[in-house]
Amino acid sequence: TLPTIGFIGLGNMGSGMTKNLQAAGYPLVVTDLRRESAEALLAGGAQWASTPREVASASDIVITMLPTPKHVGAVASGADGLIAGLADGGTWVDMSTSVPEVLDGIRRSETHRGLRILDAPVSGMSVGAANGMLQIFIGGEAEDVARLRPVFEAMGDPERILHVGGYGAGYAVKLMINQLWFSHLVATAEVLSVGVAAGVDLGVLRDALVASPANSTFVSRDVLSILDHGDYDEGFAIALACKDLGLSIDLARSVGMPVELSSLVEQVFRRARAQYGDRAGEMTPVRLYEDLLGT
Ligand code: NAD
Repeated sequence: TLPTIGFIGLGNMGSGMTKNLQAAGYPLVVTDLRRESAEALLAGGAQWASTPREVASASDIVITMLPTPKHVGAVASGADGLIAGLADGGTWVDMSTSVPEVLDGIRRSETHRGLRILDAPVSGMSVGAANGMLQIFIGGEAEDVARLRPVFEAMGDPERILHVGGYGAGYAVKLMINQLWFSHLVATAEVLSVGVAAGVDLGVLRDALVASPANSTFVSRDVLSILDHGDYDEGFAIALACKDLGLSIDLARSVGMPVELSSLVEQVFRRARAQYGDRAGEMTPVRLYEDLLGT
């Protein structure tokens, strides 16, 4: 029989991930601040738990998919926290985009219990979560990664489930990916808007970029979903994108590396968040440039 999986955080990402775990046959114990987010899972046989502690004590493997490091820390610690419910030697995989520091205290104080803690953040948007095609970056011990591989394969693309280093390496890889992708977004919006203001046709300019060495996934794929469908990806809130940019800059500071461009990109994202609201899609900064052009 398959291990029981406890899953905490049934939002844009967690809802798709749990649906795929359930479809693969894993018994689930779930919780979220909003019980209605679990309705479909409960109808499919999942069990509801009212606290993270209850989730952990009823499952073999706990997975968290929460907005920010603060939420991860809150769910992990305290009398009702998941650590209190984990059996000695129990496994917890945090798939949120977070940082290792949030668990430093817990990891230090719990070493005697032999807990297996991994970070495994993802890429692939809410669509990838729904389709079971996430890219997964795992930080942890090789034996745990091997043991958990079937669980990851139920949520991700088998070709793109990567063991990237020890605990914390997954978070770092994920933050670097988002930092570069968001940098592409701002750079692309900037050149497209200047080109259009200079009189070049937007479609012509985009096609030229796609055929050039300056092409990127943002130019070839994401610009099209904005132009063709007005889709700024509301499945990923800009408030969370700003969180990622802040964490990425904190990481750079903590290792003493200068990141001038990252700070500029963060400013553009923060301006878009202030203008269009926390829940706007993470590609909404493009609208700042559209507004300037009056398009
Ligand atoms: P979300 O806000 O849609 O979902 C988070 C869920 O966590 C919500 O349902 C919320 O109710 C729940 N939650 C918060 N605090 C809780 C608590 N104390 N106990 C129980 N449940 C709690 O966020 P999301 O878009 O699903 O993102 C989750 C994580 O994945 C974030 O770290 C995000 O940066 C990352 N991520 C998101 C995407 C995306 O496209 N949305 C892609 C890759 C990575």
